Amino acid sequence: MNRNRMKAKIKSIKSSDKSSEHSRNKKYVYFFGKGRADGNADMKNLLGGKGANLAEMTNLGVTVPAGFTITTEVCTYYYQNKQTYPRELTKQLDAALARVEKIMGRKYGDPDDPLLLSVRSGARRSMPGMMETVLNLGLTTKTIPGLIKRTNNERFVYDAYRRLLMMYADVVMEKAAGIEAADGEGIRQKLDQAMDLMKERKGIHLDTDLTANDLKVLCEQFKQIIKTHLNKEFPDDPQAQLLGGIGAVFQSWMGKRAVSYRQIEGIPEDWGTAVSVQAMVFGNTGDKSATGVAFTRNPATGENVFYGEWLSNAQGEDVVAGIRTPNPVNKAGKTADTQHLISLEEMMPDLYSQLFKIQKRLERHYTDMQDIEFTIEEGKLWMLQTRTGKRNGQSAIRMAVEMVESRLINRETALLRVNPDQIDELLHPSVDPEAGKKNPELVKGLPAGPGGAIGRIVFTADDAETWAKRGEKVILVRNETSPEDVRGMHAAEAILTAKGGMTSHAALVARGWGKCCVVGANALDIDAQNKIIRVNGRELREGDWVTMDGTRGRVFEGQLKLLPADPANNPWYLKLMKWADQMRKLKIRANADRPEDAKTARTFGAEGIGLCRTEHMFFEADRIRSVREMILADTLEGRQKALAKLLPVQKEDFIGIFKAMDGLPVTIRLLDPPLHEFLPKTEEELQELSRDMGVPFAALKAKNESLHEFNPMLGHRGCRLGITYPEIYEMQVQAIMEAACELTQQKVKVIPEIMIPLVGHVNELASMRALTIRIAEAVQKKSRVKVNYMVGTMIELPRACITSDEIATQADFYSFGTNDLTQTVYGLSRDDAGRFLPYYQEKHILQDDPFITIDIEGVGAFMKLAVEKGRKVKKNLKIGICGEHGGEPRSVEFCHYLNLDYVSCSPFRVPIARLAAAQAAIKEKTGKKRKR
Ligand code: PEP
Ligand code: MG
Repeated sequence: MNRNRMKAKIKSIKSSDKSSEHSRNKKYVYFFGKGRADGNADMKNLLGGKGANLAEMTNLGVTVPAGFTITTEVCTYYYQNKQTYPRELTKQLDAALARVEKIMGRKYGDPDDPLLLSVRSGARRSMPGMMETVLNLGLTTKTIPGLIKRTNNERFVYDAYRRLLMMYADVVMEKAAGIEAADGEGIRQKLDQAMDLMKERKGIHLDTDLTANDLKVLCEQFKQIIKTHLNKEFPDDPQAQLLGGIGAVFQSWMGKRAVSYRQIEGIPEDWGTAVSVQAMVFGNTGDKSATGVAFTRNPATGENVFYGEWLSNAQGEDVVAGIRTPNPVNKAGKTADTQHLISLEEMMPDLYSQLFKIQKRLERHYTDMQDIEFTIEEGKLWMLQTRTGKRNGQSAIRMAVEMVESRLINRETALLRVNPDQIDELLHPSVDPEAGKKNPELVKGLPAGPGGAIGRIVFTADDAETWAKRGEKVILVRNETSPEDVRGMHAAEAILTAKGGMTSHAALVARGWGKCCVVGANALDIDAQNKIIRVNGRELREGDWVTMDGTRGRVFEGQLKLLPADPANNPWYLKLMKWADQMRKLKIRANADRPEDAKTARTFGAEGIGLCRTEHMFFEADRIRSVREMILADTLEGRQKALAKLLPVQKEDFIGIFKAMDGLPVTIRLLDPPLHEFLPKTEEELQELSRDMGVPFAALKAKNESLHEFNPMLGHRGCRLGITYPEIYEMQVQAIMEAACELTQQKVKVIPEIMIPLVGHVNELASMRALTIRIAEAVQKKSRVKVNYMVGTMIELPRACITSDEIATQADFYSFGTNDLTQTVYGLSRDDAGRFLPYYQEKHILQDDPFITIDIEGVGAFMKLAVEKGRKVKKNLKIGICGEHGGEPRSVEFCHYLNLDYVSCSPFRVPIARLAAAQAAIKEKTGKKRKR
């Protein structure tokens, strides 16, 4: 959500939805070519990322083949109007095409010297490979002879024609027509099979070894197969091809894989895609031609070196499709495995130097790492695309920091560049190098996504999804991935492919998600049908364990040791975090129940404990018996006897936590969950307890049953326990205060904040506050020490929010328990919602899971009310949040705007929250600046 929308939401707490208008004089087609373009890089919403950047590159004077972009509004119109186009479109298309023809000096469909076109999709945000592309449009029986004459290269023309037939049949005639072919039965596979058969018959391996005549014969076969298989002729008419191509791109916006990808990435459906139509240039006309994909910095490590891959005599799709393993673009990018391959730098030094200068210029212009596509046609370099390159967390951080150091961007921009969730990747484990040395590797590939992962191998994306759903850790193994696989890829711990380079689909997608990934492990012989991998004399079957080292591109059999992440030794991370801390207003605390967790939290930068759930301490083996004894005791005396056993152990716990936090505030919540959670579940446990307590088994069983509640989450829990069994809270307050006093005597600074849970009425809090103060004062008096303590409450019921002006009179601080608050505001059981919420999201009834990201309009409105009413009574009332949302970036941003004092989250999310809080502060600040 952008800043303005967030602000608007907070102000009005209601959203508005404006549908787009289509007026008569609307411009639907934006031209670019020969140094002039109608659009520019700021017009991504209208022209898509690709169209906007093609316009921008043209304006910069970079050599881009001329073309035009059909806006995303046409896509929206298309879906709002029964898949038809606005009336004005045809005229605008004709006019733009005429301009392209003029610049390129050729006419589309001209039999003597035909111009060929490409049609590509382009959404606002890049969706790699999720939508369709058709190349070489305009080749027909009439134009083929003309092109052969001009290029004097029959082989090239038939190669281009067979590619057109393949793509067009697949994209336009099958997918866009809504034909769902069975697995392996699609037209693309049929045509691939025909081509493989031809290669087999001729005894050749590479597509490039097919002769002009082979290709000519193949094209005739292709047309026959298309006709038989799809019951339709391939259109031998340039206009029909162009319109078919454009329509197919729009259709692909609602294609299965694009819809899946949007769901995973949270891209709204109503954005639509633009379509860029562009004059073709050819990298496959012979040895003086080439094509490649490159990054202005290494996208896997973030290192500031130009990095890329290229293929001679090839079209762009060959590099990313993983059919041929591409060569490194320069000497710097060579690895031990690619040492023998010739780089573009060595092969075509002049063109490489031109390319090098352009990429530098593009990075400086966009002030960010660019992912570029280029084609060399007969010794002339053309840029086909530039876009902000996807990167993993590791490299995002390094690039952002290094760009500040070289003054390309400022600190604020650097902080906004890193997605807070990417920080998570740095906190993830890697394969122990020692284990890596001792164990022979199964296979080697390219290090496409760093980090380590262990899992069981599966061979299909569907299996990956199903296995992951039942809790298995899986590694998805494929020859190469395709966009259809995205859900399975997402579900897998890691991805391993036999084919493809660092820019293959698997690599791009994994990098975007920060997932461990190894590609191009050529030695793998994958028999997907029988679910077997054969490699170096070994055979692995479905379900076998492997360990992946995505940082080094190595794969091992079995389960190797993984080492925990080491962010403390990452200089770029440390610097970025330092800047984040200087920028943010929110304090960041951690939810931690044990001294070890408190220590971890501190190393991640926590500035206090926002929630210590004391009940977690009750579950440990040496305590649960006393807890059960306390619950099942029939008399106050019995309960006190059991509580007396718990007092010293609780006190030790608190000493540990206070020490770990060394002078930082620690919020300790008194007992909260329904008591039945602690009760014995089995007869044996009950029998044991009956022996221990000396109470007859039958009596104990009856008592156990009597504690059953119909709706325990709304039952006898929270402060209701403290009110009905004050001795429980008395013991806990005593343990906290004795620990605090003892440490104060030892000159350790402690700041206890005692928190009362599930308060709905001010009287509940007043009563528990009085109890807490009475015990706290008594302990201090006895030990003759003064401790600075506070008594506050969780705000986790709607009634508490609405009556916050009353509740605040009894509270020194608030902490939003947004887990329960979401449950109670929404009337959604937090334990059962998982059964139907995914369905809600799939059907777009809810965009987000409210237990993950705060429901701003509903739950957020209650929070806002609680803050306003509370601070009206107590201006400086300290307020934080300790529900799970405290570590979720969008919720953190909301908390910033609510002017909370802190957010509290699990230790591993502390760095994420630190960055998210800094981003919220920067967005607010720059927003103000802009207004002025
Ligand atoms: C909450 O309800 O948000 C909370 C932090 O408490 P718990 O999850 O323990 O109920
Ligand atoms: Mg709660």
